[in-house]
Amino acid sequence: MPYAYDDQNIFAKILRKEIPNDTVMETEHTLAFRDIRPQAPHHVLVIPKGSYVCHDHFCIAASDAEIVDFMRVSGKVCQMLGIQPGEGGQGFRTISNAGEHGVQEVPHYHMHILAGRGLGRMLNPA
Ligand code: AMP
Repeated sequence: MPYAYDDQNIFAKILRKEIPNDTVMETEHTLAFRDIRPQAPHHVLVIPKGSYVCHDHFCIAASDAEIVDFMRVSGKVCQMLGIQPGEGGQGFRTISNAGEHGVQEVPHYHMHILAGRGLGRMLNPA
């Protein structure tokens, strides 16, 4: 079944500048901005500007240029925040929720970057 992209989702509205965002970094293909309900001292969302629903959709359908740009921006955001464990920072977690079981709230692909405190184990027991 093809991925159905809902262009009324909140991140599509942010990309169309219909609602504001707290931008951290922007490039030709990618936008990084602060999460409106931060779950850690640093909580940044990285999104492609293209219409991709979730991680697998992006990885399969996006161009090489979009994918490289997205990954570079995610790394540069870590650099900007000073959270890289190999560079004196104390580390971070990236998360991408997809679909129902992943509890994805906004159906536009995004990567969460969380940092600034100990984040606990990856998952709670079911
Ligand atoms: P997810 O559950 O992975 O889809 O996460 C969606 C994230 O988007 C949540 O962490 C929300 O707090 C965040 N969010 C929703 N609306 C906005 C907004 N207008 N600006 C920034 N972050 C938002």
